[in-house]
Amino acid sequence: MISPDLFSSLQKFQDFINLPIVINSGFRCPEYNKRIDGAENSLHLTGEAVDIGIRTTLSNGSQYWLSGPEILKLLHKSGVYFGGIGVGGTYLHLDIRKTPDFWFYGDVLKWSDSSVYYKKSYTGHLDF
Ligand SMILES: [Zn+2]
Repeated sequence: MISPDLFSSLQKFQDFINLPIVINSGFRCPEYNKRIDGAENSLHLTGEAVDIGIRTTLSNGSQYWLSGPEILKLLHKSGVYFGGIGVGGTYLHLDIRKTPDFWFYGDVLKWSDSSVYYKKSYTGHLDF
């Protein structure tokens, strides 16, 4: 249900970070997309978008979900390209749209300092 191109990019990213990528939202049927107020033309409807989270175990044994900007930083390092990148509080929306786009979700505002930094570096990287 997830497009092969999207899947292979996710696989490359996962190999780079060497941590399991958790897919919070992958393919959505139209009914489900409507219920959660997803965009009408969402790429989740065609299997071309995923929302991902990354969890790691800290040295004290507790589980930690990386912030969106932290995941973005890793993505930037990995060099793996996605056409659309949305940065949320503890997740990234990634898709394979043709015209590059980059945005923040409202829940990332608490990370605003690092967000601005990564937006700058990412914008440079993708040459928007
Ligand atoms: Zn999404």
